[in-house]
Amino acid sequence: LALALPAFAYEPITLPVIPSDPAIEKKVSETLSRMTLDEKIGQMTQIQLDILGENGPDGFRLVPAKLDTIFGVYKVGSILNAPYSYCLDAETWNVIIPQIQEASMKYMGIPCIYGLDQNHGTTYTNGGTLFPQNLNVAASFNTEIARRAAEITAYETRASDCPWTFSPTLDLARDPRWPRFWENYGEDPLVNALMGAAAVRGFQGDDPNHIDGNHIAVSVKHFMGYGVPFSGKDRTPAHISPSDLREKHFAPYLEAIKNGALTVMVNSSSINGTPVHADWTLLTKWLKNDLQWDGLIVTDWADINNLYTREKVARDKKDAIRIAINAGIDMAMEPYKVDYCTILRELVEEGSVSMERIDDAAARALRLKYRLGLFDHPNTTLKEHPDHASKKFRKEALESAVETMVLLKNENSLLPLSQGTRLLVTGPTANSMRSLNGGWSYTWQGHLTDSYAKDYNTILEALSATFGAANVSYVPTVSFNNEGHYEDETVSDFAPALKAAEKADVIVACIGENSYCETPGNLTDLHLSANQREMVKALAKTGKPILLVINEGRPRILADIEPLAQAVVDVIIPGNFGGDALALLLSGKRNFSAKLPFTYPREINSLVTYDYKVSEEVGKMEGVYDYDARVNVQWPFGYGKSYTTFSYSNLHVDKHQFGPSDMLTVTVDITNTGSVDGKEAVLLYSSDHVASVVPDNKRLRAFDKLALMPGETRAVRFTIPASDLAFVNAQGQWALEAGDFTLSVGPLSATVSCTESYTWTTPNI
Ligand code: BGC
Repeated sequence: LALALPAFAYEPITLPVIPSDPAIEKKVSETLSRMTLDEKIGQMTQIQLDILGENGPDGFRLVPAKLDTIFGVYKVGSILNAPYSYCLDAETWNVIIPQIQEASMKYMGIPCIYGLDQNHGTTYTNGGTLFPQNLNVAASFNTEIARRAAEITAYETRASDCPWTFSPTLDLARDPRWPRFWENYGEDPLVNALMGAAAVRGFQGDDPNHIDGNHIAVSVKHFMGYGVPFSGKDRTPAHISPSDLREKHFAPYLEAIKNGALTVMVNSSSINGTPVHADWTLLTKWLKNDLQWDGLIVTDWADINNLYTREKVARDKKDAIRIAINAGIDMAMEPYKVDYCTILRELVEEGSVSMERIDDAAARALRLKYRLGLFDHPNTTLKEHPDHASKKFRKEALESAVETMVLLKNENSLLPLSQGTRLLVTGPTANSMRSLNGGWSYTWQGHLTDSYAKDYNTILEALSATFGAANVSYVPTVSFNNEGHYEDETVSDFAPALKAAEKADVIVACIGENSYCETPGNLTDLHLSANQREMVKALAKTGKPILLVINEGRPRILADIEPLAQAVVDVIIPGNFGGDALALLLSGKRNFSAKLPFTYPREINSLVTYDYKVSEEVGKMEGVYDYDARVNVQWPFGYGKSYTTFSYSNLHVDKHQFGPSDMLTVTVDITNTGSVDGKEAVLLYSSDHVASVVPDNKRLRAFDKLALMPGETRAVRFTIPASDLAFVNAQGQWALEAGDFTLSVGPLSATVSCTESYTWTTPNI
């Protein structure tokens, strides 16, 4: 029952997307037939641990009376997370979870499923390996990094006795104002789809029906459209065209489910006026009926309540529960107060929620638990996972960070820096583990930073170790307030930095953002802070070359300071080993190979993605007029430099005329024309010349990454089905229209023609 390897995004799919195992189905029905209504409702309930956890004098003994209530009275099926203030290590998790499982088995004979936000590594376990955030992973254009980071995270999560993660996040990062931009694999649907699929494989392994003790279930989130709030603020309404919804926002979820994703978490807000938690079409029709997907849909935090408290589509809590469960929600994350269970029971007794719906939801929870093997093995231990937090895993996190940092500018080959170069290191992100790790880590909120961060190197520490402490001077100039809001900064007099610059050969200005997530990260201005920009302007007056190191979760506008710098590196949010990775790259021990997975804006009123509609450039008409209303970005999607150079040659497409069922094979030769080893991400785009809806400027259709030695040439071969060139038309159908397309790779392009129009009848091709 193992799944086949990833298919292309728009290839017709075989249903059901996850073939179920008859032996598991039998056990699910048997278990269900023995359960009371209250027990079934309990399986649809998830609460957070701090409700029951107490750090008493005898360590992390959970309060038995509370366990008795949770499992004995309310029959709760799932628990999530733990407050970050606990800073739990794997040993402690190994004490906590068995107590929970024991109580759950005692009262119900059904194991509890514990879920954690392991969003960029083993984030809920002190000492767990932390990887770069997903936006970095996308910049690598190397899906193996996504797969391996997930695989290691799964292994370590099992060491902490937990079988479920609320990741990967597959909302498209298309609006830099949105505070969760960095949690996703960039702006492009295909990058999110392929990175997401690789992460699903890494977390779950290749057989989602039988997940072993080294793997965990995923929850792809936040289904869907969460990344494009109209206001740019977190958890606010999105307005998405039907074609964008299916063609772009759905694509990563479809690919994740095709690759076995066992659970889905729902977008907290609304699309076109319907809260997704109340949307039967998206939850039940698209996911469960059209795909015949038998996985579990979990709400986001308290989102059933939000249907009446915030979204105002329900009169009260009871109405909200009825709407959400009937729309297709299977499990309520934090329903706040267990009256959710009693209200849901009332709704069933009144006939407002059918018993079939309850059975279906409870069966989905049980199926997940059987697929994870929790009935037979409710616990996994640290002892069974000796590589947890090992040097080997940390080295892999370091090497992946190296591959995710983007070199955006390198005038006169300022980089790499030779040994003996004297550096002035300055700026708020220079000495901060909190900004290197971003959200979803122990350094997130500041209060644990000092004790947690001692094992890892900040940028300053790593540069001092690499270039010699005597060659590195440090003047913070602008500092973040670690305990406060992420935008709190302290600015000191620039004079000490200016003085230190006199003795330096290069100024390393480390700028960017402190960590944030969700609504506290909302922005009033996309510009990088004025303090930081003033700092760079003052330093530029010294005439010393400036290297800007940008450490931020979304592209903050820096158009006024970029021209003052000779070199720019965007480290995005590289995780615990970001400082070390940067030092390896700046010293030339490693080469840059990442490319931007998003468009870096230059102007506040021109926030576009690379696949903008061709008519976006209203200000330009060849030879007629050229107003200043063009797409004018700081750096485009797919931009990134290296210490070597690559040339592209011999672009070849196997057919220049094709029909809807054809496959197109595209080959191109890539040569390393420089003098050092390098890796090149090769991106294949298509552009539709004329279509019945305004075509996108271009669309990424495939990518690959190659390592090449100086002078070496290798061919890249992409095979794409003609259906990849289809789009969703005004009637909501996938359509491939006869006409010309340009295929482009690097600087090369070829025109191909589709000879026959075709529309697909299945919604999910
Ligand atoms: C976030 C989710 C997360 C959940 C549980 C919510 O606030 O939106 O991404 O999985 O909390 O921590």
